[in-house]
Amino acid sequence: MGGPGAGKGTQSAKIERALGIPHVSTGEIFRQHIEQQTDVGREIKHLLDDGHLAPDELTVRVVRERLADADCQQGCLLDGFPRSVAQAKALDEIVELQGGRVDLVINLEVSDDEVVSRLTSRRVCPVCGAIYNLEYNPPSVDGQCDNPACEGARLIQRDDDREDVIRERIRVYHRKTEPLLQFYGAKGVLKTVRGEGKTPDAVFAKIESYLASPDVACGT
Ligand code: AMP
Repeated sequence: MGGPGAGKGTQSAKIERALGIPHVSTGEIFRQHIEQQTDVGREIKHLLDDGHLAPDELTVRVVRERLADADCQQGCLLDGFPRSVAQAKALDEIVELQGGRVDLVINLEVSDDEVVSRLTSRRVCPVCGAIYNLEYNPPSVDGQCDNPACEGARLIQRDDDREDVIRERIRVYHRKTEPLLQFYGAKGVLKTVRGEGKTPDAVFAKIESYLASPDVACGT
């Protein structure tokens, strides 16, 4: 969990490597639908473009389908889901039916001002999904992905990384997603990690200490 620009995507890639479990990002799934112009993509494009959330029912359906895939049966990392209490309750039902549980929720905490500054300078590789920041983590060659497999792909700015949209995403986060901190806090599975002023590796070191907890069953 974490507001927009808190570092969910960056940390998810590291957790995925550390635990060897799939990284399921609802934002990424939605962006693929939009790119491929599917029915789902057409339904949600304007919502994403304006910084609003996709409907709970649709989001839960997409996640339920993904969690049924074979590669998720030993556990998976959810990035950007759930984003509302209704989604969290639906997730509990899905994982219970599969005989699992939500065993760890990492909340990345970053101030709103930091979010705006991070997101306006965020660039992503359209081929491999690598995330760069023009100030803190620029690519070696201006505007190009460092990954040799991407053969110099031009980095892009996400459509929803414009300042007016970012402000709306922050508002939506406080209103709809933040109540989840109480929901998961009460279940005793929530760990909050301050992301501000730390390198991605320093944030990950803290996360890694929580992943090592015996209560975390995924990937084993
Ligand atoms: P993200 O890549 O996680 O920042 O997500 C990008 C956008 O996709 C969000 O701003 C929402 O519009 C939409 N989205 C992603 N995950 C969810 C979710 N769990 N519920 C509703 N909308 C979502």
